[in-house]
Amino acid sequence: MEIQASKKAKGLDGGAAPCALGGDTPLPPAYWGERSGLACLDTVVSDVWTEGYSHHITRLMILSNLATLLDVSPRELTDWFWVAYTDAYDWVVEPNVLGMGTYALAGLMTTKPYVSGAAYINRMSDYCSLCPFNPKTDCPFTSLYWAFLARHEAVLKTNPRLRMPMASLRKRAASRRKQDQEVYKRVKEILEKGDKVTPKNLL
Ligand code: SF4
Repeated sequence: MEIQASKKAKGLDGGAAPCALGGDTPLPPAYWGERSGLACLDTVVSDVWTEGYSHHITRLMILSNLATLLDVSPRELTDWFWVAYTDAYDWVVEPNVLGMGTYALAGLMTTKPYVSGAAYINRMSDYCSLCPFNPKTDCPFTSLYWAFLARHEAVLKTNPRLRMPMASLRKRAASRRKQDQEVYKRVKEILEKGDKVTPKNLL
């Protein structure tokens, strides 16, 4: 299997830069401690900077999920894990972030990208109760999820484990797909500036 490599990201120490989905967005300042307005991300990032550690599930469900949904450079996210975590060993960080967290290695280690919208995060955690967004109505994660599937539809549509979400995507109204794309652009723009996303400035 030939895996696309990022043309931009080289890695802090020349680490491998596989990039199956072509993500090259810079890692937002929110990962370095700026408040993003997304309670799940801000809580996990704050915990990581305090403890140098977080549970495996938050590494995937929040940190890698959001980065993947925003098409962040997998190499840049991986380098962040090296800096942020006290248990950052090469045999943990490289496969976990490049292989599992971001799908940078395509199907080499996982059968599908580990991405989700707000319903999953709400079911698996209690972050949403602290958040100005409502996971059932206006949480940007859900639009980011659908926008991600739409952007990468050509690559993901043949993945048997994504048959159901891709079928739902095809049934999604054009107006909602347009809104998903607008939310993606807006969240990226706000976070890249180091600003907070709020229910008022999102659309
Ligand atoms: S509502 Fe959305 S942004 Fe807020 S904590 Fe839940 S999943 Fe995260």
